[in-house]
Amino acid sequence: MKVTKSDITISAVAPKQYPDEGYPEIALAGRSNVGKSSFINKMINRKALARTSSKPGKTQTLNFYLINEVFHFVDVPGYGYAKVSKKEREAWGRMLETYFSERENLKATILVVDLRHEPTKDDISMYEFLKHYELPVIVVATKLDKLKKSQIHKHIKRVKDTLQLDAGDVVVPFSSETGQGKDEAWREIERFL
Ligand code: GDP
Repeated sequence: MKVTKSDITISAVAPKQYPDEGYPEIALAGRSNVGKSSFINKMINRKALARTSSKPGKTQTLNFYLINEVFHFVDVPGYGYAKVSKKEREAWGRMLETYFSERENLKATILVVDLRHEPTKDDISMYEFLKHYELPVIVVATKLDKLKKSQIHKHIKRVKDTLQLDAGDVVVPFSSETGQGKDEAWREIERFL
């Protein structure tokens, strides 16, 4: 998809604020600092529509970005940040539970992981959570530019094995620095629109 238009529709704190125009939604989840905002910005050719490295302590919101007036990217706050309080973590959990269990517009979720490292416990929990709701998952393994060519295959296999990826789900190696993987990521997204 060639993105010519992207705008934030709303930062929603409660379900009643979710947009009701019926656009399909592709959610994005990932550990804090994994490169999720950089991924979104690269996909939509914007420098900073999605805020990079948003710090915890801010209000946790679901950010809906309308892309080409065709669909919404829904940016889910990152997980795995150690300094988040129990109360904040619980609020985050409730928000995800509500969104992922009830949202009919949601077509697939992109789970952003770091290709350099083995997926974390939190990554595995998030994948299992999404599969519990029988949602298709596109795993985007980012920071591809940080790996030597000879390491890539092994790292992709490790991501698949550690997450115990379903047969229908894919891993897309990606770099927000170089744009590698962008066409493949769009192809995977467009299957669900
Ligand atoms: P977020 O917290 O998941 O939204 O993470 P950010 O998008 O803010 O990225 C965290 C850090 O990783 C930033 O310093 C980015 O510049 C860097 N980063 C993100 N993606 C890539 C990538 O593909 N390659 C490299 N080399 N750095 C990246």
